[in-house]
Amino acid sequence: MHFISTRGNKEKVIASKAIIKGICDDGGLYVPTYFPNLKDKLNNLVNLSYKKLCFEVLKLFLDDFNEKELMDCINKSYDDKFDNEKIAPTVKIKDNYFLELYHGPTCAFKDMALTLMPLLLEKSLEKNNIKEDIVILTATSGDTGKAALEGFKNLEKIKIIVFFPEDGVSTIQKLQMKSQEGNNTYVVSIKGNFDDAQSSVKSIFNDENFNKKLKQNNYILSSANSINIGRLLPQVVYYFYSYLELVRNKNINLGDKINFVVPTGNFGNILAAYYSKNMGLPINKLICASNENNVLYDFFTTGKYNKNRKLHLTTSPSMDILISSNLERLLFEACNRDDKKVNKLINSLNNKGFYEIDNNMKSNLSSFIGEYATEEEVKENINNIFNKYNYLIDTHTCVAYTSYEKYLKNTKDKTTTVIVSTASPYKFSKDVLNALGKEDNSLDEFQILNTLSKETNTTIPLPIKNLKTAKVLHNRSCEKYQIKKEVENILKV
Ligand SMILES: *Cc1c(COP(=O)(O)O)cnc(C)c1O
Repeated sequence: MHFISTRGNKEKVIASKAIIKGICDDGGLYVPTYFPNLKDKLNNLVNLSYKKLCFEVLKLFLDDFNEKELMDCINKSYDDKFDNEKIAPTVKIKDNYFLELYHGPTCAFKDMALTLMPLLLEKSLEKNNIKEDIVILTATSGDTGKAALEGFKNLEKIKIIVFFPEDGVSTIQKLQMKSQEGNNTYVVSIKGNFDDAQSSVKSIFNDENFNKKLKQNNYILSSANSINIGRLLPQVVYYFYSYLELVRNKNINLGDKINFVVPTGNFGNILAAYYSKNMGLPINKLICASNENNVLYDFFTTGKYNKNRKLHLTTSPSMDILISSNLERLLFEACNRDDKKVNKLINSLNNKGFYEIDNNMKSNLSSFIGEYATEEEVKENINNIFNKYNYLIDTHTCVAYTSYEKYLKNTKDKTTTVIVSTASPYKFSKDVLNALGKEDNSLDEFQILNTLSKETNTTIPLPIKNLKTAKVLHNRSCEKYQIKKEVENILKV
């Protein structure tokens, strides 16, 4: 297996190289040269544990890792850091299925990949004889930063520095990051919004002189964001696992097609579902659920992608995004891997903030359906689902649920459908409590958690509960124009 660029640079690299590099030299994203097919082997996979299944799927892509190397990483990743022995259970709630991806150490689906990717990177450095130390630089609006810190903590030869906007994350998210343990973790709050943090970090990656200076000091910069195939590929696994769990439980027969509904931001999660379909998993429709930032809804209904619009801040902040980076990988497949076409579309996006795909590409995307949910609908449905089924979901998951309701109403499609659940309701406890009609502005963050627990008779996940007594270990703060200086201070260069 090799990986190539979506933009036509003909260089082919093995998996460990692609994981180290993250992004191609031409700015494109790494894609596998082909999709291995598991269709005729599904029968042999039905009874595998999450870890074993993970091995069977990933070995097809990471074939420069030997069995022991890969299994070591997987065993260290999906262990008792997860509070559910299935790792990613699919639960049946009345006529609906929810694939719960939030049982990891930071209570959001980012853990599914970020518990594993750092270990794959560590192994990749070893295999490629990289002598320098790696510095992971990440700007976060909340979930990614904490999950990356947890995944990278205490790894040798790797340091991680996370920048977050001081006023742009929830109190829980802030505490989660500021109390981060590990001898190689650095957390810096910046005075500015997420875009400021993001663009400052990007400018460091593009600063040739600065990179030279780091190299002289034995450092290489890298990133943990969702365009790295080391994050994308582990996400393919849970689509297989969920399907096979339905087979095991006799909810479907092997070979039956099912739908997945995925709450979408950067298009990483749903792209992994599409990859699993390309690998022979029987999937009918992929329903791409957006919040009020419904760029992708417009794209799938009209073929036009237009980011020239205002960004709305919603109660599902991990989906407040106007440029879905991973969509480039879908475009690549939709135009039958014609990299010239991809270049044209991406250039148009960069120059005009807009592109339109042709009819041929559109017809290649017919398994995708775009839907979206308004803030009002999300609030209403969290309450409805809880009252009807005694099942509590977070705001992001409710965007998916609401989108599915709309899809059902439009299509009457009877296909078994799995709604992908991406965060614990406790991570967004204020908005969830609000949706249940129990808001009380006098409550602090921990009183909110307790009230939510009492009102819904559910338990606060330990990683969130423990924050109450966690020590603040990070107090770095800087102006947005000082980020480079801050990196220099931390690395002492
Ligand atoms: C990151 C995130 C998403 C969006 O996933 P993408 O892969 O970026 O599409 C949805 N929900 C939650 C809770 C997230 O943290």
